[in-house]
Amino acid sequence: MLDKLFIDGEWIAGGETLPVIDPATGLEFSRVACGTAADIDVAVEAATRAFSGPWRKTSGRDRAQLLHAIADLIDARIDTLAELEVRDNGKPLPEARWDIEDTAGCFRYYAELAAKLDDQQGEAIDLPTSDFGSRVFYEPVGACALIIPWNYPMLMAAWKVAPALAAGCTCVLKPSELTPMTALELAAIAAEAGLPRGVLNVVTGLGAVAGQRLSEHPDIAKVAFTGSVVSGRAVLHSAAGTLKDIGLELGGKSAAIVFEDADIEAVVEWVMFGIFWNQGEVCSATSRLLIHESVADQILERLREEAERIPLGSGLTPGTLLGPLVSEQQLQRVRGFVDRARSDGIALLTGGGQPEGMEVGYFFQPTIFVDVPKSSELWREEVFGPVLAVRRFNSEADALADANDSDYGLAAAVFSKDKDRLERVARSLDVGIVWQNCSQPTFAEAPWGGTKQSGIGRELGPWGLQNYLSVKQVTDYQSARPWAWYLASD
Ligand code: NAD
Repeated sequence: MLDKLFIDGEWIAGGETLPVIDPATGLEFSRVACGTAADIDVAVEAATRAFSGPWRKTSGRDRAQLLHAIADLIDARIDTLAELEVRDNGKPLPEARWDIEDTAGCFRYYAELAAKLDDQQGEAIDLPTSDFGSRVFYEPVGACALIIPWNYPMLMAAWKVAPALAAGCTCVLKPSELTPMTALELAAIAAEAGLPRGVLNVVTGLGAVAGQRLSEHPDIAKVAFTGSVVSGRAVLHSAAGTLKDIGLELGGKSAAIVFEDADIEAVVEWVMFGIFWNQGEVCSATSRLLIHESVADQILERLREEAERIPLGSGLTPGTLLGPLVSEQQLQRVRGFVDRARSDGIALLTGGGQPEGMEVGYFFQPTIFVDVPKSSELWREEVFGPVLAVRRFNSEADALADANDSDYGLAAAVFSKDKDRLERVARSLDVGIVWQNCSQPTFAEAPWGGTKQSGIGRELGPWGLQNYLSVKQVTDYQSARPWAWYLASD
């Protein structure tokens, strides 16, 4: 089953296949179908057909039941799914279990919102006249293209599939070619839960082929994309042909600002978590650290100690906190940033290479550079690995200016005991998400997304559902005749 495409409720053998590599060993552990543009066309046809059938007219409560059933099946298979996620992505098993729990939680959250959609009788709009009455209805947008990355494979699928189904849309999901396994499991689960055929289709394959065709396909109403800025730009171009609705969740270079009055030990824990969690392969990773100069040396010393103590290993080895990077290519990318920073003379506090004795698999040490020049690529570009860039500041204004001086605007963290300062800084940061005295907590209920080149739109919460709903105005005639109304209003 896992080497096939899931289209129109059936498992279909593709032609070519792609290897799936375990990042802890560098060895192939499975193969998946390499979907072609023609496969995408068949999947979009199935999604379009399913959308014009009874699915879009199902009640929100019926869809909620299906979403709950999907969540229950995910929970029931958490052991298998979490292990598969580790083998696919490399992350430590407890983190993978967390992801799978969150995946089920996301389906449950959107089940609740789906049920509430039934209550809408058309929201009345206040008009400046009693001659007409206007109401608003929310309707599913149509067949959607859902394209996701490799860092949280199943959770990223849930962030899109759950609200799309809750809204009554149909979809074609294309997982990353690096981590396709749990998306296929999700297809199997959805089918078992009773989702009608064609409502969720999963096509594995390459971004430049399957992803590109999906984002340009004329019958796709909406593209929801999560990935890099480069691919996001390509998707925006492809979607422009038929002016599709689009959501882009892209990269980041998020800052953590530490003021002199912050709780130092709490800061150390959150900063470590903010950059080394999930191997730093997190779009919102707080990969730029700005520390007030009066506490910088103290914090840096503690960060060095903690970074050198992180247990590295296979995600399946108990106690591992940092697994391998996802692929050979990602390892080369991270190493490239680190080697260039070192040869440019940027001060390395700790890490900087593959850990000794761990040359098999794609392991990289937790790495910290200090006093990183603002103009350097290490400060400005997303590394997407366990690499922290640190600078010192001596005033709130300087810290804010440095934090905002970025092409990205996904998230930021701020640490202080001064509540007024926390609020002031939060309101001045040009980002979509601000964490106060913490880093990375994420909730299905709260909006997710960024400003500037971090993307377009928001996922999660009710905003995530709105992405898949089209707003319809219905205006009815109450009393006036057209010309009488026009002349009277003159
Ligand atoms: P990527 O852009 O290489 O790939 C993402 C997906 O897009 C994959 O499924 C890929 O096959 C597909 N794709 C690639 N080129 C395409 C094209 N031309 N047309 C259509 N689809 C195409 O990204 P990645 O390496 O998988 O993920 C890492 C990136 O994702 C990082 O930049 C990270 O910040 C970002 N990300 C953002 C968020 C967020 O919520 N903002 C969350 C997770 C990851």
